[in-house]
Amino acid sequence: MTKPVLLETGPMMDLISSQLANDFTVHRLPAAASDREALLGKIAGDVVGIATGGHTGVKTDAALLARFPKLRVIGNFGVGYDSIDVATAAKRGIIVTNTPDVLTEEVADTALGLLLNTVREFGPAEQYLRAGEWAKKGDYRLTPGSLRDRTLGMVGMGRIGQAIAKRAAAFGMPVVYFSRSKKSDVAFPYYSNLIEMAKAVDTLMVITPGGAETKNMINAGVLAALGARGILINVARGTVVDEPALMAALRNKTIQAAGLDVFWNEPTINPEWMSVPNVTLFPHVGSASVYTRDGMGQLVVDNLVAFAKGEAPKTPVAETPFKGW
Ligand code: NAP
Repeated sequence: MTKPVLLETGPMMDLISSQLANDFTVHRLPAAASDREALLGKIAGDVVGIATGGHTGVKTDAALLARFPKLRVIGNFGVGYDSIDVATAAKRGIIVTNTPDVLTEEVADTALGLLLNTVREFGPAEQYLRAGEWAKKGDYRLTPGSLRDRTLGMVGMGRIGQAIAKRAAAFGMPVVYFSRSKKSDVAFPYYSNLIEMAKAVDTLMVITPGGAETKNMINAGVLAALGARGILINVARGTVVDEPALMAALRNKTIQAAGLDVFWNEPTINPEWMSVPNVTLFPHVGSASVYTRDGMGQLVVDNLVAFAKGEAPKTPVAETPFKGW
């Protein structure tokens, strides 16, 4: 029996590719555009599954989806699926799956690490030691920032947001949150207005989905409301923050500092970031441990293989609920 045809839109972990090959005939989209066209010309009419992720650099947009008339399932490596046109997928009855839960604790750890690095300047302090300046110049400076006198305003209080809030509360920080709706199972105080929350706190932690709805949600107005003691941490998506506004706010001290794990145009980020001193920069490492990436990879496989076996996918996204293949 011939296996169903699956396309990987970019490099996937061996753990994914090797397992998918048991149940699918797997093709990988080449990097060069002309090679891509040649491959798509051959296989597009037969493709029923796609394995993708924000890291492949290929948007699963309406134009790409239009190439695959028989497409039934898309397995996304990552919980955020803003690089996939889910509205078009939903209209065509294509099931989109993602990797929730398996990465929640890792990303929450990273968020706290980024917050601590930003507030207490651990990166620059280590560089000071490595440069031999401790013995020459004396102790590293006392940091103007501390978690001891801060209140955390969460922008987004979903799976990862709640894991971050739990950690911040354990660190002794008062926590409040903003999202479109008040969560019945969350006891932290809720704000329905982002500016009002930004005025009430000095530290913002952004952990919403990306996409059109949250684009530039953290803008000059929010940063001004956060104020001169303000710290902004973004572990969501680069697009949620108006980067020029943030850069200006950091340079003219509208806020104190920022910590960013995500950027516009990753991985080719705006080079101006390198010359902004009061920002901590992580190269999108939120979930990037072997343990967690293996868990995510396995979930991508399980979702796609479920299609090949005629079983229900484990984690379809809310916009494309599973009603049968
Ligand atoms: P989730 O459980 O769906 O939570 C999303 C939260 O964002 C909810 O509280 C939701 O509440 C809120 N939200 C959604 N749209 C909003 C809007 N327009 N305005 C304000 N709040 C909004 O998702 P999750 O598992 O926690 O993941 C969240 C995001 O984290 C992912 O989508 C991804 O972008 C990002 N992420 C980053 C990394 C990394 O490596 N840095 C890793 C994993 C995930 P309401 O629906 O009530 O608004």
